[in-house]
Amino acid sequence: MIHFLDLKSINAQYRQNLIDAAARVIDSGWYIQGTELKAFESEFAAYCCTQHCIGVANGLDALTLTLRAWKELGKLKEGDEVIVPANTYIASILAITENRLKPVLVEPDEHTYNLCPNKTAAAITANTKAILAVHLYGQLAPMPKLMALADEHGLLVLEDSAQAHGAAINGKKAGSWGHASGFSFYPGKNLGALGDAGAVTTNDDELAKTIRALGNYGSHKKYENLYQGVNSRLDEMQAAMLRVKLQHLDTETQRRKEIARSYAKGITHPALSQPITTHSTLTSLENHVFHLYVVRTAKREALQAHLANTGIQTLIHYPIPPHQQKAYAQWSKEAYPLSEAIHQQVLSLPISPVMTDNQVDSIIAACNSFEMP
Ligand SMILES: *Cc1c(COP(=O)(O)O)cnc(C)c1O
Repeated sequence: MIHFLDLKSINAQYRQNLIDAAARVIDSGWYIQGTELKAFESEFAAYCCTQHCIGVANGLDALTLTLRAWKELGKLKEGDEVIVPANTYIASILAITENRLKPVLVEPDEHTYNLCPNKTAAAITANTKAILAVHLYGQLAPMPKLMALADEHGLLVLEDSAQAHGAAINGKKAGSWGHASGFSFYPGKNLGALGDAGAVTTNDDELAKTIRALGNYGSHKKYENLYQGVNSRLDEMQAAMLRVKLQHLDTETQRRKEIARSYAKGITHPALSQPITTHSTLTSLENHVFHLYVVRTAKREALQAHLANTGIQTLIHYPIPPHQQKAYAQWSKEAYPLSEAIHQQVLSLPISPVMTDNQVDSIIAACNSFEMP
């Protein structure tokens, strides 16, 4: 059986280092907002090439608190429109509606599944104040063009980098393109904690300070509260785990890219569309870190069953588009045909840094032996 993601094996690679780091925290007697968090924040800011990294409790909070901070700073107000891809993971949209901002769903580029500059431009109105650019499946959205568009219209740009740690265009990484960026370190992400964790990166001093306060009861200074904040902190234990794993992120990403190259070359079945990368060739693969390897086929259910029969576990990212979720019943009459087709046709093959060449070869063989129903 090839599991979709073998987290146990991934973390077993660093077992002793993780145990040593946990012991360091246990023995320190200091568990919230201490030296591990400070060190991780500066190491991750350095990794992303940003001035600031603010640890928070999870990726959703990273996005929600950034938008909230822009409201507190007077840069956004209730009802402002935020452009977001219609095919994103629900968390991107939850961050917008939680702040009583208005998500404007835009169909993605058909090949990359990310925002398309032309369709984004067409969705801008007088009420548009921000773009939430999601780097879906690990591929950077077309940030040079999106930033130029945002500059032209005076829009804020928030990156959702939850799936794209380390992806870059021209050497500039996810997290350093927008005015701010939200990261998730959910255990299954490319940089995963051993529990929930997230962070915001930004070069904006005032924004960083505000997010830090909002995640700590709205307080810049102990027992003084400027905002009605929340409790959203990255604890010392998870920061210590992340410091261990950050050291190996680039090596793990290289292995993901190797597997992606093998899939791209090896899978030749005419009915399976492969991921398409822009801004990089298959050899450089700079802008895609393959959090997920997503193929597309009109016979998705049959392909998934065929792979399951040969012992290969696959998943669907995602089965229901946000506008068809019960949580957003107000959009149930809206149609986003491209996003709907994507949700009906995509299938994620196993990809992880601990997969062996034999496993990769057997997945390729199983895909190629798929008989269309
Ligand atoms: C995982 C994810 C999030 C949310 O992160 P959590 O840490 O689970 O809250 C947000 N956006 C995208 C695109 C994600 O994949």
